[in-house]
Amino acid sequence: MKKIAILGSTGSIGTQTLDVARANGDLQVVGLGAGSNVDLMEQQIREFHPGFAVMENEEKAAQLRSRIRDLNVTVSCGMEGMLELACLPESEILVTAIVGMIGIRPTIAAMKAGKDIALANKETLVTAGHLIMPLAEECGVRIFPVDSEHSAIFQCLNGEKKEEIAKLLITASGGPFRGKKRKDLLHVTVEDALRHPNWSMGHKITIDSATLVNKGLEVMEAKWLFEVDLDRIQVVVQPKSIIHSMVEFRDGAVMAQMGTPDMKLPIQYALYYPERRFLAGDRLDFAKLREITFEEPDMETFRGLPMAMEASKRGGSMPTVFNAANERAVALFLARKISFLDIYDVIAGAMEHHRVMEHPNLEQILDAEQETYEWISGRY
Ligand code: NDP
Repeated sequence: MKKIAILGSTGSIGTQTLDVARANGDLQVVGLGAGSNVDLMEQQIREFHPGFAVMENEEKAAQLRSRIRDLNVTVSCGMEGMLELACLPESEILVTAIVGMIGIRPTIAAMKAGKDIALANKETLVTAGHLIMPLAEECGVRIFPVDSEHSAIFQCLNGEKKEEIAKLLITASGGPFRGKKRKDLLHVTVEDALRHPNWSMGHKITIDSATLVNKGLEVMEAKWLFEVDLDRIQVVVQPKSIIHSMVEFRDGAVMAQMGTPDMKLPIQYALYYPERRFLAGDRLDFAKLREITFEEPDMETFRGLPMAMEASKRGGSMPTVFNAANERAVALFLARKISFLDIYDVIAGAMEHHRVMEHPNLEQILDAEQETYEWISGRY
């Protein structure tokens, strides 16, 4: 039995991780962490019997404790609880399925405690990749990508040498507004932006897909995970999300990982690497598919991608500011306080205002995050 802990178990990636555990029967869930969804957490605890659970605050933890007082489960709360979950002595791998920069500290704690990481929480690498990657090496732990694009690249690189990579080709669906121009996006609603053509995901990442910020975050994530410079990472729009990403090697060969869009595949691959297990679900039917088309991303309309590249090139604390400004802007958009296109202006304003710190440590990263939030809340 492989023992896993899941941070963000009630979300899109968290519940699909539990689907994988349910289907396989040889993953033991030793700890679960979530924000506010006490109902689902109770169900998950009754089904998977972890010994430890954590909720975002004491109020939610107290509700959970009273619901499961017939069970022998320790229930904790807040960051302290998340750090404890990350370091549970019996767990071997932490699935970071929490959304946002809040995932950084538990990820670092888990690595220091010798746990491998199944990494969905891309914000961790975007903002602290320069700390996380050397730490993984120092601690002798592995980071297995869960993001479908990074899992695809990871699979294409199986048995290959890093020095032989010519470039990474990260595919993008283009999101719900592909083909639209700025004037068409002036009055789009939250509901319009949440209508992703191919993937069913949490709200934050779905909005990030619509702005192409998600693709920008993925480029930054790939830079750290695969040690490839930005100028050797290309984004290609492939609307049906059949090709999950590709690697071009120095002899011109291109390897692609393909499949129907299903996050359970990268999750399962991360948890069982290097083994491939049976996974129920649709298979690609090339006769029905007939064609796979490609486009260049529209960088003028969807400024999220070029702004992310700029933040990454500037480096230091700028990716943190990009990410934190986007987190806050998306929350404001979801709360209907700003428009879709305002998301770009919030990010651009925060980046312009920021004075970059080179090589920030963890405290400085968290300070830059806080400063960005404060700058935004004074204006929106
Ligand atoms: P969701 O919004 O669906 O889930 C987020 C999870 O985090 C929930 O379990 C939520 O708990 C929990 N959470 C939120 N805030 C807190 C907090 N303060 N304390 C403890 N737990 C908290 O997100 P996704 O599953 O979509 O995304 C998770 C991560 O994976 C993101 O970084 C995303 O970019 C990445 N990712 C997601 C993909 C997808 O297909 N969904 C694909 C690739 C990457 P609750 O609901 O109980 O409040």
